Amino acid sequence: QDVEDDRGSPAPAPKDNVEISSRDRVIFPNSGETKGDLADYYEAIAPIMLPFASSRPLSLVRCPQGRAKKCFFQKHDNGGFGDGVKAVPIKEKDGGAEDYLFIEDARGLLQCVQMGTIEFHGWCARSDAVEKPDRMVFDLDPDEGLDFTEVRDAARDIRKHLADIGLTSFAMVTGGKGIHVVVPLTPGHDWEAHKSFAQRFAKALAQAQPDRFTATMSKEKRKGRIFIDWLRNQRGSTAVMPYSARARANAPVAAPIAWNELEKLEEANGFTIGDTNRLLDRAKSKKLAGWGFADQRLPDV
Ligand code: ATP
Ligand code: MN
Ligand code: MN
Repeated sequence: QDVEDDRGSPAPAPKDNVEISSRDRVIFPNSGETKGDLADYYEAIAPIMLPFASSRPLSLVRCPQGRAKKCFFQKHDNGGFGDGVKAVPIKEKDGGAEDYLFIEDARGLLQCVQMGTIEFHGWCARSDAVEKPDRMVFDLDPDEGLDFTEVRDAARDIRKHLADIGLTSFAMVTGGKGIHVVVPLTPGHDWEAHKSFAQRFAKALAQAQPDRFTATMSKEKRKGRIFIDWLRNQRGSTAVMPYSARARANAPVAAPIAWNELEKLEEANGFTIGDTNRLLDRAKSKKLAGWGFADQRLPDV
């Protein structure tokens, strides 16, 4: 059947057709990518990004005048984004509730970009079950000047320690300096158990190898070490979503990595929004098949 109706009027615009204003505005000054380039990146990458970023409370990094000007985090829905950006009420510590924002489709993704969003960060829980975390993230933050090879080795060691307790994990370069080791989890346990597990895991590593790792945020204790940032795993915290662009020089993106390609990797910011086709091809390839998915629960420890 023809999609056009019998009067010959044009078919309606696709659902995710979001009007992007100021397409020529330069968002990344030193490399030259515009708001239009960013929107095209997100439109193309949406099918492989949405499985991770949809239906999850988000925190957006918005830089309406580009990354070199004022940027701000936004986690609450103020109603100004459009119909593709949804709100989920979440209880605050004081007993009240606030509307957090989430998206479900490419339309929501692009409406965020239209509003100057560069980065998408997400909770470790889905918007339909905010009290039951479904992913754990170990965010490896190297001290300044530490070689990337150290970060790679740390990620591999963490993978092994997780495997020893029966947990499958995946690596992602952040588009910045480090690697996130991501542990998908079948929801069931609460935030208390989630945070406590992450904290104990990170502290045990830091205790076993204090010359390589620290589990405390202090910059002082990080000297020459890697901070295993387990604090991403608290209720309300976020981590950058796979395929999110970063508001950093040269428009890098957070990119899933297969464990066996890690050893050849030279930096965490090697993929950019100019690599759309390469990222799409990689996502379809065997080496990244199943990346980020595993049906597993935290061990009772
Ligand atoms: P890098 O590899 O360079 O460390 P990163 O994304 O891991 O990149 P971090 O500074 O380690 O950057 O931050 C980890 C996560 O913590 C971020 O991805 C973000 O989701 C969250 N975060 C950091 N700063 C803030 C902030 N000011 N407000 C809200 N969330 C933040
Ligand atoms: Mn980090
Ligand atoms: Mn961190």
